[in-house]
Amino acid sequence: MRALLPALLLAGCAGAPQARTPGTTAPAPSAAPVSATAIFPARVSQGALVFGRLPSGSQATYNGRSLRATPYGTVVFGVGRDEAGPLRVAVRHADGRAQDVVIQVTPRDWPVERIDGVPPTTVDPPPAIAERIRLEQERVAAARLRDDDRTGFAQTFAWPVKGRISGRFGNQRVYNGSPRAPHSGMDIAAAQGTPVLAPADGMVSFADPDLYLTGGTVVLDHGYGVSSNFLHLSRIDVKVGDSVAQGQPVGAVGATGRATGPHLHWGMNWFDVRVDPLLVLERAP
Ligand SMILES: [Zn+2]
Repeated sequence: MRALLPALLLAGCAGAPQARTPGTTAPAPSAAPVSATAIFPARVSQGALVFGRLPSGSQATYNGRSLRATPYGTVVFGVGRDEAGPLRVAVRHADGRAQDVVIQVTPRDWPVERIDGVPPTTVDPPPAIAERIRLEQERVAAARLRDDDRTGFAQTFAWPVKGRISGRFGNQRVYNGSPRAPHSGMDIAAAQGTPVLAPADGMVSFADPDLYLTGGTVVLDHGYGVSSNFLHLSRIDVKVGDSVAQGQPVGAVGATGRATGPHLHWGMNWFDVRVDPLLVLERAP
């Protein structure tokens, strides 16, 4: 059974100023409210994108990376498919207090998915092709490492195309009988040529119509390390550097690269950590 990402409390209660009776004296500006505390979910699923909230002036570190906070104090990080937890976020508040946040990780089941009839040269490519694939993957990986300050990642994400889920994130994949890397994203069945819409605001950080494995490929940077990638596109409507708003077309569904039929592969990352787009869609606004 797939565990759902717990609904997060992101209400603006952390560190909110105390209500004061008109005419009373305001506290000294240096006196941080005693209640100032970072808010994170107590438990998350493998593959989740985790949102937290920091009081003004607080700083958080996760896995050696300092988490950038929005003006509203929102921070984000990703939990890998195989992360066992518990996760630890070190918070340093403006008054110097340290808060150690411990987050438990709910394990998920990862079913085996058998895909037969894939062209053999895409499953076991010859050396020259393997080198091409390596170079292409390096370029995509570099695009995912951007740390842009746009905040599209904090929006409520929308489905890029409507359709049946034909392949889930994290499933163990067996191509033509050979075990391979787990599925890195979510496949959505849709007809060839269906417009692919930006699930949230972002900037196009990668666009190439012809990668060997992934065919027409677009990476959309939603900010703070969060990005989407759309694979197997039959058409690309954007170029690197374009800013796109949620709902704007970035391309069209296809079957380019290693695909057995038209569908959209939608992957999401927090930097180099792959996360499950379905959990991002299910996040309570
Ligand atoms: Zn896929």
